[in-house]
Amino acid sequence: MQINPPYQQCLQLRKWIVENREILASFIARSTSTSGSLISVPMDEEIIPIVNVQSRQNGHTFFIEAKISLPNDLKCFYVLICPNCGQEVRSPVRREIHCMNCNQQNMLTPRCRFDVNLQDTSGSVFGMIMGKEGERILSLTVEEVYERASVNVRIQSKQFTHDHFIIELAK
Ligand SMILES: [Zn+2]
Repeated sequence: MQINPPYQQCLQLRKWIVENREILASFIARSTSTSGSLISVPMDEEIIPIVNVQSRQNGHTFFIEAKISLPNDLKCFYVLICPNCGQEVRSPVRREIHCMNCNQQNMLTPRCRFDVNLQDTSGSVFGMIMGKEGERILSLTVEEVYERASVNVRIQSKQFTHDHFIIELAK
């Protein structure tokens, strides 16, 4: 018996996300730490306050500077996909599957994907971070995320040395 079910945090976050799906679905964040080298804000771009994000036009990208809040449970940081076609497959563990999408037999592979809350002094918004961007933020490969999640290691907030990020949002 587990006194603290590992999924609790996840479920609470999921619940929040379902309730705010409309906002969440609108954003995909690309980001790096302010001291990182991945993103530099172009000269003619301004960093906008989060409160103004909603009024931005769809199909544009823009920059915010925000504190990123991450899920606590590593199980919230990846999904398992078919390595051939990328189809997401609901499975608690990696296993061999027959993919209904591409009709192939394949071993599931983890892909980094997680939801974040982005906050600045004007407000907050949810975003989703995927793939290499996610691995970069976590300073872990997706294989490492999966391995650690399988032994129930929790993310410590102090593992993140930079909590303010310049983030390019795609709406
Ligand atoms: Zn497939």
